Amino acid sequence: MSEKMSRDYYEVLGVPREAGMDEIKKAYRKLAMKYHPDRNPGDGEAEAKFKEAAEAYEVLSDVQKRRIYDAYGHQGLKNTGYRGPGTADDIFSSINDLFGDLFGFGGRSRQRNPNGPIPGDDLRYDMEISFMDAVHGVTREVELTKRETCWTCEGSGLRPGYKPQMCPTCHGRGQVIRSQGFFQVSSTCPQCGGSGQIITDPCNDCHGQGLVNKTKRVSIKIPAGVDTGARMRLRGEGEGGRRGGPSGDLYVVIYVRPHEYFQREGQNIYLRYPVSMVKAALGCEVEVPTIHGSAKLKIPAGTQPGEHFTLKHQGVAGLRGKSPGDMIVEVQVQTPTKLTKQQKTLLREFAEQSSESQEEGFFSRLFHSHFSQTDKKQHAGDA
Ligand SMILES: [Zn+2]
Ligand SMILES: [Zn+2]
Repeated sequence: MSEKMSRDYYEVLGVPREAGMDEIKKAYRKLAMKYHPDRNPGDGEAEAKFKEAAEAYEVLSDVQKRRIYDAYGHQGLKNTGYRGPGTADDIFSSINDLFGDLFGFGGRSRQRNPNGPIPGDDLRYDMEISFMDAVHGVTREVELTKRETCWTCEGSGLRPGYKPQMCPTCHGRGQVIRSQGFFQVSSTCPQCGGSGQIITDPCNDCHGQGLVNKTKRVSIKIPAGVDTGARMRLRGEGEGGRRGGPSGDLYVVIYVRPHEYFQREGQNIYLRYPVSMVKAALGCEVEVPTIHGSAKLKIPAGTQPGEHFTLKHQGVAGLRGKSPGDMIVEVQVQTPTKLTKQQKTLLREFAEQSSESQEEGFFSRLFHSHFSQTDKKQHAGDA
């Protein structure tokens, strides 16, 4: 793949170097629709163009990647570890995120022979999973009721042993001609839908549809590390084809329920962890929950509210071999609200022993810098 990465991204999308985001998006959308593999089945050249456009778009739509590319070209990107947009399935999921259901899940717009094979429709299944299932991966069995090929008639809709009859309305032409003023207008035959044939002896099992409703259990393996919006394609698990056409695909779209304590951003996990005022002042070692269990964390003496500590590689595992993210713990210093008489006395004693409180020090520096700003500019920066 890397040998073919040399074409200029602006040239690939056909946009000028100063193009704005809208222009880039529009150009990409046009190319993605033109070269989409669903519209060019088995066309390797179209697929290569589709991937090339996806890669150009991925770089030029990302401010940081674009800056690197503008300055240092392809080699510069490679040096940052950029490896392109990944497999075709990744590209599909990013396209669908970008344009919504641009390509639709109900039927592909392809020109077909009216009596030829009809591929099955793609199906979409929205699946909600828990935060932890998304983090660790899970296999789910789901029961799907979908239309599958009727094997009594092999998807033809004909009662076995019978043949389709010529359509009496269009006499087998598939088109009907109407006169409209001086003109003759040709349109698809309403009785046979353009096939020129009608079924007079329909299959008993599917009533001539070629498809029957079936409930099937499908096992869906969700890899560790998925997040909301991830799409998986299960080839051939969509609706059945008719007249020898292939089955459609099933798209599983993931929604992850939020967790009570953990928050997730990409592969990093965020946790707010309460620590008492005394422990924050004196320092301590605590056991914090992680998505993998728990881990020891050293809180140093003098820790301030909102301070962050990073537990390396305690985040979410990377998809496709990427290294795992980190866990970031934000310390929430808790001020005690119910004090005993003795505790109050101790705290007052503590206050007396602190000769100058931190607030007073802070304000005196602030005032000092404020009043000296006009005549002693170099001191203002210290505060
Ligand atoms: Zn007809
Ligand atoms: Zn049938």
